Parts: sequence; C-alpha cells; structure tokens
Amino acid sequence: MPKIEIDPELCTKCGTCVENCPVGIFQQDDEDSIPTIQGEGGCIFCAQCVDNCPADAVKHEDFS
Ligand code: SF4
Ligand code: SF4
Repeated sequence: MPKIEIDPELCTKCGTCVENCPVGIFQQDDEDSIPTIQGEGGCIFCAQCVDNCPADAVKHEDFS
C-alpha cells in the first residue's frame, strides 16, 4: 500500500486531487476542508495526484 500524504501547510483545498484521482482516494467534505486519503490500497499509480496538484502538496512515496 503506497504512502500518500497531503502537506496541510501547502494545500489550498482546491479539490483538484479529488477530481483527478480515478479511484477516488481523495475525499473532501467541503471546500473549506483539506482532503483526506482513504483506501490507498486501490491506488493504480497513475501519478495524477502528484502531477496536477497546483500547490505541490501531494506526497506519494512512489513519485517525487
Ligand atoms: S490538489 Fe493539492 S492543493 Fe488542491 S486540494 Fe489536493 S492536495 Fe490540496
Ligand atoms: S497515483 Fe493516481 S490512483 Fe494513486 S492516489 Fe494518485 S491519482 Fe489516485
């Protein structure tokens, strides 16, 4: 299971990771919340979360 984290100091709560992850690992309660990460075991290693975060806040152990 990959280790995936969001740096709360960098995250702007934009929701891009929620929209882009094809397997729904990022969940956001509302626009004022930092997304949470659930079910990392379903990750398909597409790198969309790391590539598309405008704040470089997503840390995925398999991608720099
Ligand atoms: S894409 Fe990046 S900045 Fe936007 S909500 Fe996700 S982690 Fe935060
Ligand atoms: S690498 Fe792809 S499947 Fe895995 S958490 Fe990121 S966006 Fe989702």
